[in-house]
Amino acid sequence: MRRALVAGNWKMNGSQASIKSLVSDLLPVLANGINGVDVVVCPPYPYLGQVAEAAFGSEIVLGAQDLSEEASGAFTGEVSGSMLSDFRVRFVLVGHSERRVRCGESDELVAKKFAAAQAAGLIPVLCVGESLDHRQSGHAEDVVATQMTAIIEQCGVKALEDAVIAYEPVWAIGTGQAASAEDAQLMHAFIRQVVAQFDAGVASGVQILYGGSVNADNAEALFACEDIDGGLVGGASLNAKDFIRICQSVS
Ligand code: PEP
Repeated sequence: MRRALVAGNWKMNGSQASIKSLVSDLLPVLANGINGVDVVVCPPYPYLGQVAEAAFGSEIVLGAQDLSEEASGAFTGEVSGSMLSDFRVRFVLVGHSERRVRCGESDELVAKKFAAAQAAGLIPVLCVGESLDHRQSGHAEDVVATQMTAIIEQCGVKALEDAVIAYEPVWAIGTGQAASAEDAQLMHAFIRQVVAQFDAGVASGVQILYGGSVNADNAEALFACEDIDGGLVGGASLNAKDFIRICQSVS
């Protein structure tokens, strides 16, 4: 039985004041945890310490949005996995489409970041997903399979035992147009099949989150699908009431 996980990706949003208020609105409901669901929040780097402190002792788990593939050294502007661990970060997103597209992150670089996260004791949340063009031209599965196999070939399938996968169709991110539960379920089952070609045990155990315009109204139907183990939530995670409702939608 896989545990459910809901992660909020705050992206490049917030200020000390807004984050203070968001965390204080989340704590009364989430501090003691929600049965069967792990709740993670991924603030921007400068606010990790603030959230770590405010959420200390609660069941809210800290995540980061990215990390360097390097361990330390002359890499101006980069943040290493060990620095994140130092702030009690447990999860880190790798390969988010906004970084693949805007920063040109290749599958090879994503695999290096995935390995760097694990080397620092963090759990990578590997984001995969196709563009609208790829979906419309019938290549969605090919794209996702390529993204998945790049990681499996470079890091080994067993590395997925200590990782989470997030299926995030690029066309659904921030658009208000979530994938239907049926389409999302089909792709999640496909991802599990891709992993199963390497190791069936790993495939059945790995958590696969859905991301892309998850909100308080569509979360329940998405999370009820057999192969959907929770969500990676962007915009709606900035609203405490919505994020709490999404976390409570896990059945
Ligand atoms: C995301 O950024 O990972 C995401 C899913 O965003 P949104 O929920 O806003 O579509």
